[in-house]
Amino acid sequence: MTPIFPESLQQWQSVASSLKFDGRPAIGGQRNEPHSTRTFDLVNPADGQVLAQVPRCGTVEVGAAIAAARAAADHGVWSEQPAVLRAEVLRKLATSIEVHGAELALLDSLQMGMPVSLAVDDIGLAARKLREAAAGAERLQGASLPSAPSSLALNLRVPQGVVAAITPWNFPLFVALSKIGPALATGNSVVLKPSELAPLACLRLADLAAEAGLPPGVLNVVPGLGSEAGQALALSRQVDMVSFTGSTATGRLLMRAAADSNLKSLQLELGGKSPQVVLDDCGDLEALAQALADGLMFNSGQVCVAGSRLVIARSLAPSLVPLVAEKLASWRFGHPMDPVTTLGPLASRHHLAHVQRFIDHAHAQGLAAWPSPMGGGPGLPTPIVFSDVPADAEIAQEEVFGPVAAASSFDTDDEAAAYANNSRYGLVATVWCSDAARGLALARRIRSGAVTVNTRTRHTPARVSGASLEPVRESGFGAEGGLAGLLAYTRARHLLLNLPA
Ligand code: ADP
Repeated sequence: MTPIFPESLQQWQSVASSLKFDGRPAIGGQRNEPHSTRTFDLVNPADGQVLAQVPRCGTVEVGAAIAAARAAADHGVWSEQPAVLRAEVLRKLATSIEVHGAELALLDSLQMGMPVSLAVDDIGLAARKLREAAAGAERLQGASLPSAPSSLALNLRVPQGVVAAITPWNFPLFVALSKIGPALATGNSVVLKPSELAPLACLRLADLAAEAGLPPGVLNVVPGLGSEAGQALALSRQVDMVSFTGSTATGRLLMRAAADSNLKSLQLELGGKSPQVVLDDCGDLEALAQALADGLMFNSGQVCVAGSRLVIARSLAPSLVPLVAEKLASWRFGHPMDPVTTLGPLASRHHLAHVQRFIDHAHAQGLAAWPSPMGGGPGLPTPIVFSDVPADAEIAQEEVFGPVAAASSFDTDDEAAAYANNSRYGLVATVWCSDAARGLALARRIRSGAVTVNTRTRHTPARVSGASLEPVRESGFGAEGGLAGLLAYTRARHLLLNLPA
C-alpha cells in the first residue's frame, strides 16, 4: 500500500489534531500502567507548549522491561526462529511504519521541531534500513572449519542476547530503528530507552511491532531520563549489550557503567565535528557553496555528521565563504507542518541556549562572522559561518549541534589533511575537488568513520546500500550499517561435534 501524506499545512494540522499521545511504557508486548506516578513534560519547541506528560520510568519499569527481554531471549521465542521468519515479521513492520508514516513523522516533528517534510523522508529511510537489516540477516553465514573427519567443527554467529538501545532526539525514530533493525534481525531482544525529548514515535513503534507479529518481550520501550532509566539499563547485569548514540560525555558514563557491572558489549556513536575540505581546483563555486551550506543546515545542524568545519583552499576562501553564507538563506524557516518548510527550531530552549553560547564566544573572540541574510527565527539562532578560525579555537573543535560553521584556510594538501585530522572526533569527512585522483589521495589520509568525495553521506546520488561506518577517536567505536553493523549485534561461537568412531 502506498502511504498517503497530507499536502498542506491545514491538512497536516488536521491530522495533528486527532493524534493521541500515549507515553506509557511498552513492556512484554503491550502498554503498561507505570509503577511510578512521576512524569516529565514533552514540550513542542515550535511554540513552547507542553504536548504531553510522559511517565518517568525508573528502576521498577526498566527492571520489568529487562526481565521481559531476558525471558524472551532465554526462551528463544525470537532468537531460535529461522532468520527468514524473523525477516518476514520485520518486513511487515517496515510496511506498517510506512503506512503510519504521517502519524510517526508528526510525532517526531512535534516533539523536536524537525520540519514534517524532513520527518517523512526520515521515516521512509528508516523503513528501508529495517528491510536492509532483515535481508542482511537472512544471508548471514557462519563457517565450517577444517577438522578431523570424525568431527564437525563450526563457527556460528549467535545473538548478543538482550540489547539496550539508548537513543538521542535528533532523528528519534530513524536512529532507534538503525539499532533495533539489526538487533532484531540477528535475533536479539531489545529494550529501547528513547530520548526524553522525543519518546512518542518510538513507543508507537512498539505497538506496530506487536501488531506485525513480534513476540511479546522481544521489543520493549521505556520512556525516562538518561540519569535514571538510561543508567539502570547501563548498570544492569541482565543486559548483554548497550548500543548508544549521543554525546561523548554520556558515552564515557556508559563505559564506566559497563565496567562497574557485567562488562557488557558497547557500541557507541558519539559526537562529531566533520570537516568539509575544499581543494583549490573546484569549479562551480555556486553549486559547491550550496552543497557546503546543505551539509551544515540539514535538521538545523543538529546532526552528528554535520559538515561544520569548512577547510578551504586559501585561494578560494575569500569568494567561497560569503557565497556559503548567502546559500544558508536558501533554507526556509517556518511552521514545521508547512510542507515547504525546510528549517525548524532547535529541539529545546535548553539546546538553543547551548548553541547561542558557542556563537557568543566566537563573537567575543573577534572572529569574522558571516550570518545568513535571512536571519533565524523563534527557537533558531541566525545560521552563521565564522571565517579565518584558528585550528584550536572552540568553534573549530567543539561540537555545536546547530547551524554554525567554522571556516579555515590551507595552502597545501598536507596541511588540509592535518587540519581535517586535527579533531578529537572522527565520524564523517568530505573532500570537494575536480581532480578525483587528488581528492582520493587526500581522502585516504583522513582518519574518519566515513570519507566521501564530492558528495555527502545521506542524500548521495550514489544510492549506496550496505555501507558500514565505524567512528574513530572520541566519536566512539563499533560499526553501524551493512554487514559489519549486523555482526556487531552478534557474537562468535565455536561449536564442535565429535562423532563416535
Ligand atoms: P544529548 O546531549 O544530545 O541529548 P545525551 O548523551 O545526553 O545527548 O543523550 C542521548 C541519550 O542518552 C538520551 O536517551 C539520554 O536520555 C541518554 N542518557 C543521558 N545521560 C545518560 C546516562 N547517564 N546514562 C544512560 N543514558 C543517558
